[in-house]
Amino acid sequence: MPIPARGRHRRRVQFPAQTTPAPAPAAGNLDRRLREAESASASASAISPVPKIMTTTAARAGVSTLFTVRPLIRDPLVTETSQLQDETVDVCLPFLQGTAAAQKPPFNVHGVPALQRDSHVAYLYDSLEDYPAGFVGLDASRPWMVYWALAGLSLLGEDVTKFRRRVCATFTPIQNQSGGFGGGHGQISHCAPTYATILSLAMVGGDDAFKLVDRTAMWRWLGRLKQPDGSFRVCEGGEEDVRGAYCAMVIISLLDLPLTLPPDAEARKHGVETFTSGLAEYLSRCQTYEGGISASPGTEAHGAYAFCALACLCILGEPEQTINRHMDVPLLLSWLSARQYGPEGGYSGRTNKLVDGCYSHWVGNCWPLVQAALNGRQSAASPTLAVGNLYSREGLTRYILSCCQAKNGGLRDKPGKHQDSYHTCYTLAGLSTTQYHHYHTDSSTVLAGPFNSAFSWQYLRIAASEAVLTEPSSDASVFSEGDRLAAFHPLYVIPHQAAASMHAWCSEQRWI
Ligand SMILES: [Zn+2]
Repeated sequence: MPIPARGRHRRRVQFPAQTTPAPAPAAGNLDRRLREAESASASASAISPVPKIMTTTAARAGVSTLFTVRPLIRDPLVTETSQLQDETVDVCLPFLQGTAAAQKPPFNVHGVPALQRDSHVAYLYDSLEDYPAGFVGLDASRPWMVYWALAGLSLLGEDVTKFRRRVCATFTPIQNQSGGFGGGHGQISHCAPTYATILSLAMVGGDDAFKLVDRTAMWRWLGRLKQPDGSFRVCEGGEEDVRGAYCAMVIISLLDLPLTLPPDAEARKHGVETFTSGLAEYLSRCQTYEGGISASPGTEAHGAYAFCALACLCILGEPEQTINRHMDVPLLLSWLSARQYGPEGGYSGRTNKLVDGCYSHWVGNCWPLVQAALNGRQSAASPTLAVGNLYSREGLTRYILSCCQAKNGGLRDKPGKHQDSYHTCYTLAGLSTTQYHHYHTDSSTVLAGPFNSAFSWQYLRIAASEAVLTEPSSDASVFSEGDRLAAFHPLYVIPHQAAASMHAWCSEQRWI
């Protein structure tokens, strides 16, 4: 019988009755349990013959046992967190098996449902229309709503340049004369909506979109955010964290702003002369004892901050130099690997948290950056890519297509949650990553200057698979060619051409 633990009322921690740790299953025993689970699944038995292995109805053909049963090795300590994890697995299993009533056919030979492309496109178009009064809380996220929709549509193959006039009309009134963009009308400038604005303008492209930005005012505003310790505040008087650093460097590099700080920047009084001064060292201090990267030094490692920090390092220079020099890579690999869960296949954002579709991007897109750091600069014409994918592409593909697609369009955190444009954008960005090898090269669209490396990324298509897998492999493709998404720039999270065009246009402008 479990013994309830004493402590805070809210925590439902239960320790096993035994005083000695539960013995680890012997390898032979584990093999036997796997075989039994396999045969139970194959024979469509509704009752598990093995304790702690959940098998429900038969999975579709093509889905291996790895994705149809609870993990075989378990910590005997039962906590509120472990119970929530078990509940989440139980919710996901029918979707992974391809037997959930809410799933829409067709399924491919791997038992994975097709991407509901038309439904997701329709959902994202709808997300750009008016909202009822109850959504007033989104008023500070106007640029984000635009970015998530345009990015999602671009990934799905839609031409978003037709939104140019609407996007310009939306963003013109939220630009502040003192530089930067607010989240809505009359709001102070903030790094996050300014980042979303710049990326949206890059995606719709064209002179009208590019010239809308007051680059000189932007440069001065960003100068007021730079801190003596190398970091950036997210807004004047706001917190300093890794988001501020990443957003600022995305804005500076896309708009081709001077790296020298404006003369009136406060950080100059402390000997800091450029936007990049002390920045890599600050990001290094954000890596935690776990190996992940936190919002600011001394806080908890988190998937979204990890992406922000790694992408920021890759804007600062070549990943094999910036990441290898400023991160403990083995520890980072350990933490990133622990973010992918089985049987779900998706990522969690933090230790002991649940899978969530949006981390398909935040954690999933850390991998191409780390892999590039390990592979080093590649020949644009013939990359070797000795270090392949260091995560389970199959698992992530299955989680996104099987668990995250809402029946009426849009994608979500997990089954049981509502779809929204944020999760639609970032699950699709994660799915796109599973379909391409990204690498940085010796060939850049920027011939010289500090951002040469940031614009040197290229990609190879990974072949889809329409045949039944004969050998188990975590790097297997389980998507069909019809589910192919566009490739995105791994640092800017927009199409490569959109990033290159905005930078090229800005670099041709006279600096005032
Ligand atoms: Zn999420």
